[in-house]
Amino acid sequence: MAEEIEQRYDPAVIEPKWQQRWAADPGLYAAEPADCGKPKYYVLEMLPYPSGALHMGHVRNYSIGDALARQMWMRGYNVLHPMGWDAFGLPAENAALKNNTPPREWTLANIAAMKRQFLRLGMGFDWATEITTCMPEYYRWNQWFFLKMYEKGLAYRKKSKVNWCPECATVLANEQVVDGCCWRHEETIVEQRDLVQWFLRITAYAEELLDDLEKLDGWPEKVRTMQRNWIGRSEGTEVDFFLSETVDQGPGTEGLGTRDEGTETRIRVFTTRVDTIFGATSVQLAPQHALVAQLTADNPALKAQVDELIEQQKKAREAGDLGAIEKHGVPTGRVAINPYNGQPVPIWVANYILADYGTGAIMSVPAHDERDFEFATKYGLEIRQVIAPVAEGAASEGQAADRAEEAVLPFVSEDGVLINSGEFDGLKCTDAQILLQSVASSKGFGEAKVTFRLKDWGVSRQRYWGTPIPMIHCEKDGIVPVPEEQLPVLLPDVVEITQQGGSPLGRVAEFVNVTCPKCGGPAKRETDTMDTFVDSSWYFYRYPDAKNATAPFDSKIVKYWFPIDQYIGGVEHAILHLIYSRFWTKVMRDLGLITNDEPVARLFTQGMVIKDGAKMSKSKGNVVSPDEMVARYGADSARMYSLFASPPDRDLDWQEDGVAGVSRFLARVWRLVTRYSAVARAGREDSQSQVSESRPGAPRDQVSGLSLKLLRKMHQTIAKITQDFEGRWHFNTCVSAIMELVNEIQGGDAQLAAGAVEAHVIKELLRTVVLLLAPFAPYLAAELWEELGEEGALLRADWPVSDPELAKEDELEIPVQVSGKLVTVVKVAADADGAAMEAAARANEKVQGRIAGKTVVKAIVVPGKLVNLVVK
Ligand SMILES: [Zn+2]
Ligand SMILES: [Zn+2]
Repeated sequence: MAEEIEQRYDPAVIEPKWQQRWAADPGLYAAEPADCGKPKYYVLEMLPYPSGALHMGHVRNYSIGDALARQMWMRGYNVLHPMGWDAFGLPAENAALKNNTPPREWTLANIAAMKRQFLRLGMGFDWATEITTCMPEYYRWNQWFFLKMYEKGLAYRKKSKVNWCPECATVLANEQVVDGCCWRHEETIVEQRDLVQWFLRITAYAEELLDDLEKLDGWPEKVRTMQRNWIGRSEGTEVDFFLSETVDQGPGTEGLGTRDEGTETRIRVFTTRVDTIFGATSVQLAPQHALVAQLTADNPALKAQVDELIEQQKKAREAGDLGAIEKHGVPTGRVAINPYNGQPVPIWVANYILADYGTGAIMSVPAHDERDFEFATKYGLEIRQVIAPVAEGAASEGQAADRAEEAVLPFVSEDGVLINSGEFDGLKCTDAQILLQSVASSKGFGEAKVTFRLKDWGVSRQRYWGTPIPMIHCEKDGIVPVPEEQLPVLLPDVVEITQQGGSPLGRVAEFVNVTCPKCGGPAKRETDTMDTFVDSSWYFYRYPDAKNATAPFDSKIVKYWFPIDQYIGGVEHAILHLIYSRFWTKVMRDLGLITNDEPVARLFTQGMVIKDGAKMSKSKGNVVSPDEMVARYGADSARMYSLFASPPDRDLDWQEDGVAGVSRFLARVWRLVTRYSAVARAGREDSQSQVSESRPGAPRDQVSGLSLKLLRKMHQTIAKITQDFEGRWHFNTCVSAIMELVNEIQGGDAQLAAGAVEAHVIKELLRTVVLLLAPFAPYLAAELWEELGEEGALLRADWPVSDPELAKEDELEIPVQVSGKLVTVVKVAADADGAAMEAAARANEKVQGRIAGKTVVKAIVVPGKLVNLVVK
């Protein structure tokens, strides 16, 4: 009785025991130096924000990465598997407001709590390389990089319209505005404000960021597509329309002023279809366009109308979809001259033209653009067709022009020829684009132009808990960078945090008032802090050399580890973090610090963890706490369930029954191994050189029938799991495969107990089960490894190798069709040839019934796969 009670799988005993042992062995998860002779493998999961507690999404993310890291260790790689904390950010300030706890204290307490959770979960991180981004030893390098970028003209300050979240009380980058709302406050509409801000010139790398996406074939296609769209390259032409003195004779021409000297005389438009320029019947300006102010200066009525357009834009932005704005425009009464034909076109101001796209002005060609057509129809503007579709079978350009067909307008295809376009008539659209471009540049009124949707990265934040921007404002010298030797600019500890009246740092006199490094006079520090996405743009370069006090990292060490072999995280970072860190890598390369062009070779984006059909969240009350799961079922069960319940790239619907099921399975493994561990230990001495070594060509005749069957299953399981780690990562089916193997061994329990399976085979089976389990349930695997009498860390044991000979089935099940219809399945020897397969099929009773009285006109045999008897 007493013995039976003892014999129980108890993760509450096993797991803390191993947690302690692992903690006492800091070398266990440490990476080795570059000269260790092993191939390197850098596996990384995105670092968490220290909110105070891990959630199930974290458990899943880190279970995937940890399984991979452990398997690579067992395969003999030098593995780097670090962890850190993305520790700056607004929640710390909000918590400070709410609980009156300083942000630093709150953050560090959260980190300690989450680290305890990580350790309890048994994650194999090298804590010696831990980084915390809110510590001066880390953020001083943010400042150092900022100074380097400033030197290179990649960091600059300008006044511009910026996104402002009233909830965050700070500016947001374009990437942080999601459907018109704040990325942190999904319900809060982002406002536009005019502010002087620091920007990083990410657009200088737009072309390369786009082109290099082609190299990233280890990235999910959806992420590459999202980045491609975000960068938004379009090729076209910029053309100057000349502002005419002439007054438009169209509607709405009253009340015009005359032009002063020194004002704008040209309107530069950007178009991707310069071939349609003879069809331009108006020029449209964004309400914020510089010329609009000039045109409305003496025209209060027009100014009022323009203000209304601005208001409409603001409302549409607030509604979340500027693209769907109801189009309104007002005529200015002025005209511009089309430089190609000298024809005047009216100038309008329209609410759907964006100041920050292209030049903030377009030519409107209603006959060949959907949007322009809609606008022209609404306001009765001229619609002039200048492109005609080409009739089928036209052989030459001349012929094409002759055979141009009537088109339904708007005709937007580029598959056509020019008409009503003077000397350019008859040209194909694509040819005309090239020719018209060269005309513009030779005559000096335009040029070929590539534009990008990507804008420079606004990094100023009017908040406290971030990296101080290392700049000084001197009345005499203007902007003066903090000298490198004065870094870090420390974030002061004592700050009164409120969300009003600009950056909290502005109220700390001892921080703000400094001596100008240039003239020695009194000056003021910059009080904006950096966007926290700066911290995560390069953190993974710091891990391999985390303690470096004289540089962000040693280039030699980084050269060995980069690029990251496998990066794992949520797809929500596809635009934000993953584009910023690619930019940062290219900047560091151009600073001569690194040689790689891209930070990450392979990227994996895991699905979300949901419950009751929704993402887990406090407001929905469907949060499952990892601590609770660990307390109830153990860390191994929680981790293994998060891998077992669905393929890692899909969403996982959390079911507690499932965790309980995994826990019961682990208990069965524990019972199986402990029951036969004594036999297996005997098998150790029994033979070192027989089947147990599972080398190809091991003597099959030295073991019993059941042994062979179990070994076959074992080698098949090894092959399947190994392949999955290398390829599709369907860890859910890996776990099922281990379950099947265990079931099959248990199915032979009576024979095992009766000694029908050789001790060395039992040893081999149990050893393999434990090795295969190691990446998924590391605690139990370590315990059972010891139970089997194995010495040394399981993490350093060799990953098992499948023997294809032993994995091969003796018999195969072959589907038999009669005239293409499945009739039955027959068993044949695995190496049966076509004739033997056909004979087996014909010998089958069901098949005989189907072919009786008919003639088999043809037998199609696919060896090892299928027999199809075609009858008449
Ligand atoms: Zn916000
Ligand atoms: Zn000065």
